[in-house]
Amino acid sequence: MGTLAIIGLLVFQGFFLIRSWDLKEEEFHHNVSKILHTVAEKIASHNKTELPKSKLIQRQSTNYYSVNVNSAIDANILEDYLVREFTEASMTIEFEYAVYDCANDEYLYSNYCNLSEQKDTEEISTSHPKFDDLIYYFVVKFPSKSSFLVNDFKVPLLFSLLTILSMLSFMYAIWVILRQQQMTDLQKDFINNMTHEFKTPISSIKLASDYLIKDSKVENDTRLAKYADIIKQQNIRLNNQVEKVLNIARLEKDQFKLNLEAIYLQSFLNKIVEQEQIKYEEQSGRISVDLCDKPIYVMADKLHFTNVISNILDNALKYCKEKAMVNVSLVSKNGKVILYIEDNGIGIAKEDQKKIFNKFYRISTGNVHNVKGFGLGLFYVKNICDAHGWLISIDSKSGAGTKVKLELPIVKNPII
Ligand code: ATP
Ligand code: MG
Repeated sequence: MGTLAIIGLLVFQGFFLIRSWDLKEEEFHHNVSKILHTVAEKIASHNKTELPKSKLIQRQSTNYYSVNVNSAIDANILEDYLVREFTEASMTIEFEYAVYDCANDEYLYSNYCNLSEQKDTEEISTSHPKFDDLIYYFVVKFPSKSSFLVNDFKVPLLFSLLTILSMLSFMYAIWVILRQQQMTDLQKDFINNMTHEFKTPISSIKLASDYLIKDSKVENDTRLAKYADIIKQQNIRLNNQVEKVLNIARLEKDQFKLNLEAIYLQSFLNKIVEQEQIKYEEQSGRISVDLCDKPIYVMADKLHFTNVISNILDNALKYCKEKAMVNVSLVSKNGKVILYIEDNGIGIAKEDQKKIFNKFYRISTGNVHNVKGFGLGLFYVKNICDAHGWLISIDSKSGAGTKVKLELPIVKNPII
């Protein structure tokens, strides 16, 4: 569409330029004819003769005119008239004129006049064509007609040049964007394929480590048991990371479809909190819950909803100060339930709050605190909330903890 629009604009611009040039030519011809007519009239009145009825002024070529006056012409008077008329009409152009002498059948006198004051001297044409159908006439030639018109044409030319330049830079920008898009797609495909390839070895390691842990020799040797546990834990971690990348890949490929079902919110949250509590306790943290008594049901995709809550709880633990103290609470209001997840962590500065939902965005202090991550967690959370039609917002201050607010519609009569 952009390219078509540009081509259209360029064609229009070209057409406009050609049309303007034609108009300038016409205007030039009109002005010159008018001036030459006045000069012819003055010569006729000086000679006290009549001007011929036809073929008075003839345009012999684009810059060559003949003027038929029907009486002898005094070259000095002619030059005086020509200079005066051209100056009066503000046509500061160079011209040559020549007076034809019918007695000798040759040009009697020719001269060059420069009204433009740009050049001092100019070679006069040695020969002028003769016109058999005329007797007393003089000719006027404009050798620098094109440059005179171009001079007048500077502004449209400059604008056209600017338009062409901006079009070219626009086209270059489009080309760069398309190339980068191609590179990004390639990169995305590569990462997705690569992470996908990790899945098979990860599940093999999981199977093997499960057997290893249950082996009697390992069970009896605390050192081996510890190593086997490390393999298992790190494998789970690796699997989670790979899942995270693959989840994003699924989101972007439009392959993902929500499997909505009615979920009993309180029991659902309690289950996730129970699982996450183990991680928190390892780091002397705690998750407390404050869920209202009245059973609340919401429509959600269980798997994605679980990932959303885990991601938020995971962040609360990752970005804590010393001991992570997190509170999960529910408030139901006007057919909606508001889920708050509030932590006592490092908080998020105002300017970062708008960006944390962007893909790959990580606040630099995240690195200072030596916390690793892809910057994909909240991007995923936001996408899932949008897909469900939920509102998510963050209330936080740098150094003063973070409160994530999630607004979900309540299902009145759930079919379970
Ligand atoms: P990933 O979740 O992909 O492993 P991540 O945690 O860095 O990596 P996000 O979950 O998208 O990525 O979070 C983006 C950034 O927002 C984080 O790097 C962190 O700086 C900031 N952030 C998110 N949650 C909190 C929080 N509860 N407290 C303070 N900062 C947070
Ligand atoms: Mg995260």
